[in-house]
Amino acid sequence: MKNFNNALEVFKLLNASNCRECGMPTCLAFAGAVYTGKKKLGECPHIPPEIQAQYTESPGGKSAMNENTEKALQQLKKNVADRDLAAVAKGLGGVYADGRLTLKVLGKKFSVTDSGDIITDIHVNQWVVLPVYTYIVRGCNKELSGRWVPLRELPSGQDWFRLFGQRCEKPLKKIADAYPDLFEDMVQMFDAKHVARQYEADVSVVLYPLPKVPMLICYWHPENELESDLNLFFDDTAEDFVDLNSLNALGSGFVTMLEKFILQHATQP
Ligand code: SF4
Repeated sequence: MKNFNNALEVFKLLNASNCRECGMPTCLAFAGAVYTGKKKLGECPHIPPEIQAQYTESPGGKSAMNENTEKALQQLKKNVADRDLAAVAKGLGGVYADGRLTLKVLGKKFSVTDSGDIITDIHVNQWVVLPVYTYIVRGCNKELSGRWVPLRELPSGQDWFRLFGQRCEKPLKKIADAYPDLFEDMVQMFDAKHVARQYEADVSVVLYPLPKVPMLICYWHPENELESDLNLFFDDTAEDFVDLNSLNALGSGFVTMLEKFILQHATQP
């Protein structure tokens, strides 16, 4: 469980929209109130569950957000069980056989049974399960448009792009700066694909967190006085398949997993 050293650390987690849904006039005021203990981080409804879970603890010692997330997960599981998985499989880019829908999540097989139980070899945690359930419940069978857009240009992107930038793009850029093999490892480990150069980037790689929710990573090496840069793009249909909370969970969960992997790699003898 992490603690805040100052109000700025809280502020960095907020989307800076000053929407007032927390009852405070600005995000900065909310950050100050959280730091001084007058507000709880969970009172901002725009912070994704997995981030809240890192900082929030109820008096009983169990994360309040985890309880909420657990409830949401159980409800989604029921909704999945109500779905005809055989009927939605093709539209979701999956396969249905023997009472289970199998999807590829970051290149790995991830199966969900008719009753909503999960069968997979990959480590299961909320950042994967919530988006997968949401993807199945939505059951969208659209074709991808092939038009890449930054998250802020998705229909609800304005509410999320700052947080997404902080939790996904910035840390991923840091990893790419420090770890030159990153993109090759992504290709090997997560079935990512190099694609034709996009936006004049030095590296253009597409990952598939879900079969019909591809994520384009563009990385520009530092050059002369210019710093490196990294941006993520989604097909402009992405929000038909999952909500932005799920996209953010997938992105930040993936980055956290990479950080752990690289830390292990760096500390191996
Ligand atoms: S609800 Fe969240 S995003 Fe909106 S003003 Fe409060 S802290 Fe900022």
